[in-house]
Amino acid sequence: MTRAFNFCAGPAALPEEVLKELQEETLDYKNHGLAVMEMSHRSKEFVSIAEQAKQDFIDLLSIPDEYDVLFIQGGASLQFSMIPMNLGNKNQKVDYLEVGSWSKKAIAEAKKFHDVNIAASSKDISFKKYPSINDWNISDDSSYIHMVMNETIEGVACRSLDNLPEKVIVSDCSSNILSEPLDVKKFGLIYAGAQKNIGPAGLAIVIIRKDLIQKRDDLPALMSYQTYADSESMYNTPPTFAWYLSGKVFSWLKRNGGLESIEEINLRKAKKLYDYIDNSDFYYNDVSIESRSIMNVPFLLNDDSLNDSFLKNSEKEGLLNLAGHRSVGGMRASIYNAVPEEAIDALVSFMDVFANKYG
Ligand SMILES: *Cc1c(COP(=O)(O)O)cnc(C)c1O
Repeated sequence: MTRAFNFCAGPAALPEEVLKELQEETLDYKNHGLAVMEMSHRSKEFVSIAEQAKQDFIDLLSIPDEYDVLFIQGGASLQFSMIPMNLGNKNQKVDYLEVGSWSKKAIAEAKKFHDVNIAASSKDISFKKYPSINDWNISDDSSYIHMVMNETIEGVACRSLDNLPEKVIVSDCSSNILSEPLDVKKFGLIYAGAQKNIGPAGLAIVIIRKDLIQKRDDLPALMSYQTYADSESMYNTPPTFAWYLSGKVFSWLKRNGGLESIEEINLRKAKKLYDYIDNSDFYYNDVSIESRSIMNVPFLLNDDSLNDSFLKNSEKEGLLNLAGHRSVGGMRASIYNAVPEEAIDALVSFMDVFANKYG
């Protein structure tokens, strides 16, 4: 068996240790005679798996007591609708930052429910720099401000949270959650689809300040945060497999020193790759340095007629999924928590060999 290095933006690499544990437990989970995927979500065993996963997630992010953590199906995209439906007040605007492709999708959805004010936009510079917090034009009477903290496709991120306004801030952290410590208290709601930095697809995790959970009889049950809060996210059958495996990823992170340790590794991985790209006259990255994502690293070849050859050859070397998103082209290496440092080393040496051959 050989495992390749997987740079996919999502569904993304999972820690090998976690996959091995899964392999061991697949036929018989801890002498219960069945797999977790075959268990009732109401069984004592599964409830304890679910509770432990939630607690480990809370511990990792030091989530204060005033917040609840909800496990919801429908990916991050369902949150694009649930947020305006639950948090937007009638007769109030909602503020949105337009900082990349996922922001645009969130905005399109919010517009179906509310009057959307674009508080800041980097569209005119093709999303190459995250708008500085001091330049956001927040409405006086908005229900909340929505931001995407790390734009997965453009590789641009909000790298400092200094001076965040004292309002309800909602953040899509799908591609940066658990990559480094995060001050949850600055936010009203944080959400993340699991398939980037948490676990398998099929799950989104929502961290919500409890006072924002309202009784909303006008909403469909599954679209109301209260339904999940009142039922430990088990109003109906949750995605048990995704929840179980996410729990394994959380305990892997805790065993390895938590978010401070993973941050150190992530910063080192990203620096290695950006340094190589910046010092090369064959590859480039044109995102403003202070806004560069440490999770998604897009890069271009000066001669884009070599793109296909780059992708074919990298795949041969066991470096998978390096194509940029179809909307922006070029290359992208997603280097989430589960992508080991050796993967970056292998990528950089491949890039160098390729550049020397064709440059
Ligand atoms: C992947 C991604 C999404 C969409 O996630 P789905 O789970 O496919 O709905 C939304 N926002 C960001 C920042 C993402 O990276």
